[in-house]
Amino acid sequence: MSKVHVFNAGPCLLPQAVYDASIEAIKDFKGTGVSVLSISHRTKEWEETMNECRALWKELLHIPEGYEVVFLGGGASLEFLYVAMNFLEKKAAYLDTGVWAHKALKEAQGIGEAYAIACSKDRNYSYVPKDFEVPEDLDYLHITTNNTIYGTEIREDWDCKVPLIADMSSDILSRPVDVSKYTMIYGGAQKNAGPAGVIFAIIKKDALGKVSRYIPTMLDYRTHIDKESMFNTPPVFSIFVMNETLKWVKSIGGVEAMHEINLRKAKTLYDEIDRNSLFTGTAAVEDRSIMNICFVMAPGREALQDEFMAFAKQHGMIGIKGHRSVGGFRASVYNACTQEDVDALVACMREFENLHKQ
Ligand SMILES: *Cc1c(COP(=O)(O)O)cnc(C)c1O
Repeated sequence: MSKVHVFNAGPCLLPQAVYDASIEAIKDFKGTGVSVLSISHRTKEWEETMNECRALWKELLHIPEGYEVVFLGGGASLEFLYVAMNFLEKKAAYLDTGVWAHKALKEAQGIGEAYAIACSKDRNYSYVPKDFEVPEDLDYLHITTNNTIYGTEIREDWDCKVPLIADMSSDILSRPVDVSKYTMIYGGAQKNAGPAGVIFAIIKKDALGKVSRYIPTMLDYRTHIDKESMFNTPPVFSIFVMNETLKWVKSIGGVEAMHEINLRKAKTLYDEIDRNSLFTGTAAVEDRSIMNICFVMAPGREALQDEFMAFAKQHGMIGIKGHRSVGGFRASVYNACTQEDVDALVACMREFENLHKQ
């Protein structure tokens, strides 16, 4: 097979070392003679992996005392419900910056009083609203730090006078994060931290237990903190692969080093989008994501869209079709996507421009 460059939005590309370790573990988990797919989650060998994974999250993100990390099934979409169940008592605000943010809000509205504090739907979610006042009586403010579909991102950790809860599904581990500014950070692993099938939640422990409703056992974060994410059978294989992904991030030099690499990749591609006469970016420049890079054909050149899609495919580019609500193209350049992959896409865009010089 010829060389391909994978820009899938999720599940994401993972490093080759992670695929290799996973194949090995499927055959034989840590020399036990048992596949990781069949290992009992009550064995010492498994508990070591679980502990290692938890410790790596804490190490890589410098998670302070007082926080715990849990791993659960159900996807980030189920987390929307968990958040409201565990933290919503009187009123919560949501920053509506896209489809995922909106879904999180809707889920909370099924539980209690929740509203959009600001919304960028007026310009198809191409920017992050900034001028809004946060009332002090909120249980929490919920933000989506990276808007996977629209390519906008909040890349700073906000100072917020109410508890801040963030869906970081698609930019976790892409940059250093000041965890102490958040009451909770959560997300699905499959955008940057591993395979589908597991979610992570980083929770400030003393923020729990403040709601008066009955929380079903499985939806109560305290259950999973108390049982170290093993109240029921955890998604063993997904956690194994996530752990390997974290080990790889550490081997690169941690999230600080990842961030430098990601900034360079994003700059390479945005510079080309801005330079190339055939393309134009869709996200507001100051809010551009370094993980999901969205672009469309330049005004007047829209007719070339299908041709570029076919041209890119011929050159080995995979997964660059934009989400249907934005159109055009989206290159997801998560951690495992290399500078070489980005350079190949840029070369392809240049070659296409040369073919269509007016
Ligand atoms: C993909 C995504 C989700 C949904 O994740 P699932 O695990 O499929 O439920 C939520 N939030 C963001 C920001 C995403 O990118």
